[in-house]
Amino acid sequence: MVSRVIPVDPFDLVIFGGTGDLARRKILPGLYLRFLSGQMPEDAAIIAAARSDHDDDAYRAIIRKAIDEFVAKDKRDAKSIDAFLSRLSYVQVDAMGEGGWKELAGKIRKGMVHAFYFSVGPSLFGALAERLHKHKIADRKSRVVVEKPFGKDLASAQELNATLAQHFREEQIYRIDHYLGKETVQNLMAVRFGNMLFEPLWNAQYVDHIQITVAETVGVGGRGAYYDNSGAMRDMVQNHLMQLLCLIAMEPPNAFEPNAVRDEKLKVIRALDPVEPKDIVRGQYGPTGDEPGYIEDSENPESRTESYIALKLGISNWRWKGTPFYLRTGKKLKARASEIAVVFKDPPHSIFGEQEGRKGNVLVIRLQPNEGMNLRVTIKEPGPGGMRLIEVPLDMSFAEALGADAEDVPDAYERLIMDVIRGNQTLFMRGDEVEAAWAWTDPLIEGWQGAGTKPATYDAGSSGPEDALALMHRDGRRWREIAV
Ligand code: NAP
Repeated sequence: MVSRVIPVDPFDLVIFGGTGDLARRKILPGLYLRFLSGQMPEDAAIIAAARSDHDDDAYRAIIRKAIDEFVAKDKRDAKSIDAFLSRLSYVQVDAMGEGGWKELAGKIRKGMVHAFYFSVGPSLFGALAERLHKHKIADRKSRVVVEKPFGKDLASAQELNATLAQHFREEQIYRIDHYLGKETVQNLMAVRFGNMLFEPLWNAQYVDHIQITVAETVGVGGRGAYYDNSGAMRDMVQNHLMQLLCLIAMEPPNAFEPNAVRDEKLKVIRALDPVEPKDIVRGQYGPTGDEPGYIEDSENPESRTESYIALKLGISNWRWKGTPFYLRTGKKLKARASEIAVVFKDPPHSIFGEQEGRKGNVLVIRLQPNEGMNLRVTIKEPGPGGMRLIEVPLDMSFAEALGADAEDVPDAYERLIMDVIRGNQTLFMRGDEVEAAWAWTDPLIEGWQGAGTKPATYDAGSSGPEDALALMHRDGRRWREIAV
């Protein structure tokens, strides 16, 4: 398979928060990898901006170290790193003050794509947008990239949208949800809408239920105080799991085009049923051995914030009425694994009689680790002994199927930043989508806060609280193993 890297147009990319954790861990290493692949044109420039005092060389040294730390060894080529670093410069800018803006304005070149990445806390978005306009750095063609979290409820998301709208049109705003940049997530759309095989079966008549799992092994240590104001619902479900749900459940858009895709996703969110308290399970991981539990990590002995949540959702439309969607996500679980499983119904009648342990068809879309897809099908067990049925996986691991080309699959941040430069918003959330997701999320959070319910404690390294198992057992179903 030939890898086809199409260089993007020449650009000036300003990264506000260029000294921060996200810039060092993801954004700049990602840009280096795109540079290495040949996607970045000769005259592209990356301008980092933050409050700390650095000159260009000191900043380049910081990013050299970040590349050493966060880029795989076989991709670290000394000459390429030098060439990449020569495109970087640094400006000391305070979002809340006037220093540095003139210097920044002087670096922005005419005739380039202009993109401004707000890799800073949301409280600075308004000040940055305002000063970008006041100093005539941004115009009606500039693009602005904003990071999660996009609000903590509907009111704050509306406020952020209104702040950005004062200076930028919706077509200029790129709200990042890095899950949408994952290769498998886009493949999900290719599989659904590029084949005739699945779409006719993709509805309540043939799909028994759908499971979406995003399991992490890490706890919240280090950022416990921040996390305690958020919790799994706000941190993961409202954005990442909701986006996955939308892509699985949406109707075919008429084109793979930003607004067509986002219109269909929005319809799914608006069709979500309210969730009853009995269909929500929340948990906090307990301590194990020397390792602290959630309560210690959050430094809040009274905390009622969930580090795990499982939900059963319904979608009220013709396609999905009657098919439950089970979502779960949590910290300190037994494995780091994210997947979507579409579990099909059994055939209406078995001509082979009762067969012990039959499991039926399942399409598993793995997001991590080992991105790929796997379809479980029933076949006859080979050899003599009558018609005994077994399930075998039809496995398509990207690493195996694509060989060396799989290594060139860009990571989510790399792809999304290049999409910003290309001006393609398909994989970014629109303002109304984010607001609709919060409008659905808010009453659920208010519900458990009002009732004062405490999350159940679960063992670190387990699959989550017992009640989450019961959530499916009572429907005669079971969660898939959380496994690598
Ligand atoms: P961080 O490590 O705290 O970095 C914050 C950055 O903002 C620093 O570069 C800081 O520069 C700059 N900054 C702060 N106040 C400023 C001001 N008044 N004017 C100009 N620059 C200012 O934060 P982060 O982890 O990189 O996160 C950045 C954003 O991405 C946040 O919105 C976060 O929620 C989001 N995010 C982060 C991650 C992640 O993995 N880190 C993941 C998803 C989303 P100085 O220190 O030089 O002042």
